[in-house]
Amino acid sequence: MAPADYADWNPWHGCTKISPGCKYCYVYRQDEMYGSDKRTDLVTKNADFDLPVRRKRDKSYKIPSGAVVFTCFTSDFLVKDADVWRSEAWAMMKLRSDLTFYFFTKRIDRLRKCLPEDWGDGYDNVIIGCTVENQERADYRLPVFLDLPIRHRSIIVAPILGRIDLGPYLAPCIEEVAVSGESGIQARVCDFEWVLDIRRQCMEQDIPFSFHQTGAKLRKGGKIYCIPRKFQISQARKAAIDYRISPDGKPENGEWK
Ligand code: SF4
Repeated sequence: MAPADYADWNPWHGCTKISPGCKYCYVYRQDEMYGSDKRTDLVTKNADFDLPVRRKRDKSYKIPSGAVVFTCFTSDFLVKDADVWRSEAWAMMKLRSDLTFYFFTKRIDRLRKCLPEDWGDGYDNVIIGCTVENQERADYRLPVFLDLPIRHRSIIVAPILGRIDLGPYLAPCIEEVAVSGESGIQARVCDFEWVLDIRRQCMEQDIPFSFHQTGAKLRKGGKIYCIPRKFQISQARKAAIDYRISPDGKPENGEWK
């Protein structure tokens, strides 16, 4: 493992499509692209299921203390088919309180029944991102999300499929809103105006905002730009529209260049 501040942990693989944002799911695309012999719609436990507690020869943990662990990015952490393995996964997350685990889910309505008994108000080292892609899914998932005991929460708008009013849900407990367009050859268009609109809503409520990636088709100024996968993150960064609150409480916002 690279000596980095980030690690990936995919305890299980595969997922079932449940929502408009799943239509061109990247897990399905990747499996197809790399000719995986696994069926993506069947959830299977991965060989590195216990990665957070694995140790090297010198007995130190493979994932170094302090790392942010992107969890379950080839599935959904709350997918029903993984119910039998999740309590062990929670236990590893609790044991490695020196790491920060971050997972996104389109199944936030399953969280309550999936929580471990000792969850309380949430584990302090777990960030949960509730994913929404359109107004209808935002209006369904976000009230549920806000009502759950979670210590650290973010809203992930991905893939953005239309203009979304997040206003009623931008409570102070939301630590960040991140927006992404869709990738892949069949990607649906991401309109830059939709992104700017969410940014404006976040700035009004003083909630950090980030434009994570443009997606493959970005509409700006009435023109559609096709953006290769390798530039989708850097182009979003180039837009310089992230909104951060500095440690001294001052807002920092970029401008479109
Ligand atoms: S929930 Fe996520 S991982 Fe599962 S099918 Fe939908 S997009 Fe793919």
